Amino acid sequence: MTEPTDITSIAPRDKAEILAQALPYIRKYHGKTMVIKYGGNAMTDPALQQDFAEDVVLLKLVGINPVVVHGGGPQIETLLKRLGKQGQFIQGMRVTDPETMEVVEWVLAGEVQQDIVGLINQAGGKAVGLTGRDGAMIRAQKLRMTDQKDPKLEHDVGQVGDIVSIDPSVVKALQDDQFIPVVSPIGFGEQNESYNINADVVAAKLATVLQAEKLLMLTNIRGVLDKDMRLLTELTPRQIDDLVADGTISGGMIPKIAGALDAAKSGVNAVHIIDGRVPHALLLEVLGNEPFGTMIRSH
Ligand code: ADP
Ligand code: MG
Repeated sequence: MTEPTDITSIAPRDKAEILAQALPYIRKYHGKTMVIKYGGNAMTDPALQQDFAEDVVLLKLVGINPVVVHGGGPQIETLLKRLGKQGQFIQGMRVTDPETMEVVEWVLAGEVQQDIVGLINQAGGKAVGLTGRDGAMIRAQKLRMTDQKDPKLEHDVGQVGDIVSIDPSVVKALQDDQFIPVVSPIGFGEQNESYNINADVVAAKLATVLQAEKLLMLTNIRGVLDKDMRLLTELTPRQIDDLVADGTISGGMIPKIAGALDAAKSGVNAVHIIDGRVPHALLLEVLGNEPFGTMIRSH
């Protein structure tokens, strides 16, 4: 990670120059939607949280429409531990029994979402927190998960949801009204039951139905790494298949890369997995001219 620069020591002339360099990007993205998956360390470090909130507000103020979808793995883990429950994962998905589902809803919709809303508001924006229930946005059903190696084997991961459909009208209405939507990845089923959906999957699908210009996934690592821990700056669908098949991509990176690839193939112009530990990662990616992290190609 780079050392933070003391910006008070930058000459005003240079500051003006830096701002002017952002102009082409602002023009390019004006009026466009960007879906941002907020997760990992960027979400737990207070300084990075504030950077993130400022970046989101700045994007909104220059006429870009950010939509935030947040995760909450570490926060869910903390509360589960306090309750004496051990979290369990299968192929990157959290096994969700009814008690875990309650915890997931408390933590995501109650705590994490409202923290993000508060931070964005403090930075001068107008954020509105939503779950998939609001505006009947995210319809879901129980995820049927087959084993990666043996397609005949099915894993029961409880109330983990598979998205049936997303109705983005509530998000669009808020955007048009200068609000910044902050979405918790919770869906509802036919019996009004709740589903815990991986936030990467929600972000990817939402980016697709909104026909977003960009999908940015902030995470707790530099991007997708190869076997020797080198950063892969660009990935094609074929390369992704190979990396998943040989186990180089595992755990939480599996639903992330799958969602990213789906979005790229479904018309989202730019899909990037970026390092949320870098201060102002969001602005760097959108308004900077040096790409970082991993770009996912559609072909
Ligand atoms: P997030 O909060 O961003 O969703 P996850 O823990 O779900 O975080 O997913 C990111 C994690 O995926 C990384 O911290 C890393 O441990 C894991 N991972 C597995 N395979 C890879 C890979 N090939 N490159 C990078 N990260 C990987
Ligand atoms: Mg994850």
